[in-house]
Amino acid sequence: MRKIAFGYSTRCNIRCSHCVAAGETPYSSKMELTQAKDIIQEMGIAEVKGISFTAGEPFIYFEDLLELIDLCSEKNIYTRVVTNSSWAKTLEKAIEKMHLLKQCGLCQLRLSYSRWHQQHVPKQQVLYAAKACQEAGIDSFISFVTDFSELDDPFEQYLRDNNLKFFPEPVIYAGRAEDFSQQPLFTDYQDNCCQMNPYLAPDLTMYACCDAGSHFSTTNFFKLGSLNDWSVDQLLTKSETNMLYNCIRTMGITPIASYAGMKSKDIVTFRKCSLCKKLFNDPETLRALQKAAAGDLLQWHR
Ligand code: SF4
Ligand code: SF4
Repeated sequence: MRKIAFGYSTRCNIRCSHCVAAGETPYSSKMELTQAKDIIQEMGIAEVKGISFTAGEPFIYFEDLLELIDLCSEKNIYTRVVTNSSWAKTLEKAIEKMHLLKQCGLCQLRLSYSRWHQQHVPKQQVLYAAKACQEAGIDSFISFVTDFSELDDPFEQYLRDNNLKFFPEPVIYAGRAEDFSQQPLFTDYQDNCCQMNPYLAPDLTMYACCDAGSHFSTTNFFKLGSLNDWSVDQLLTKSETNMLYNCIRTMGITPIASYAGMKSKDIVTFRKCSLCKKLFNDPETLRALQKAAAGDLLQWHR
């Protein structure tokens, strides 16, 4: 099923020190509303079935967001908005906004939450936003970004104390978090498969991965191209038919690293996106893997 992360604007009203979106150039860019609508029309024709509005803070352009979600509903496209809850200053305000989004057909709200977000937005506002979703009949969940340190315990406890549905998401050490000190890690040799939903940036560049993929600037491995030169369908087809991307989706990054010659004891010290970067942001390794993806690599299974 075709799903896409839609970056209408990279503008944000807070400045989290772990932000992955930071570092994209220019940092604060935005599509024209009419252009965004044309793209969504085209996505409908290209059988895109889910759009997640993300990048900066989508509520900054709330009126535009309503129009875009309305259009998605008309095209039978499932919609999600990722937000930092800065707009949910009171429960009443939050309910008002959620009712407007519900009228346009919003399917789901994903509330970003972490000790970094909550330096700027009181955690009670995340609670208001979640309650407002319940009141308006919109599905919601909290994305709890964590580095799994003790510092995050009270933040997790707050979610439990308030019976909120949440899912821990590991910090991605890219963007502003690139220089964060990282705790040593030993995994149990997970495959590290990746679904890889494409991301459309406001400058109309599409990337094959919506998380750290746009930061692989040495090889631009995940860059699919621009909607100025290609259609939505052509770019999505590129993503779906690339042999190495398909190895990431089906085999996972760990077996690819092993195939590429990394020692097992080294592989287990890498986080998923860091391992991905080590393999695919190195021109020589990438060249070898691209060649292998059409042959030998496909045989590298039990
Ligand atoms: S992590 Fe999200 S809320 Fe925080 S600065 Fe980045 S875009 Fe804004
Ligand atoms: S592992 Fe690679 S493909 Fe998956 S989210 Fe991280 S950067 Fe993207």
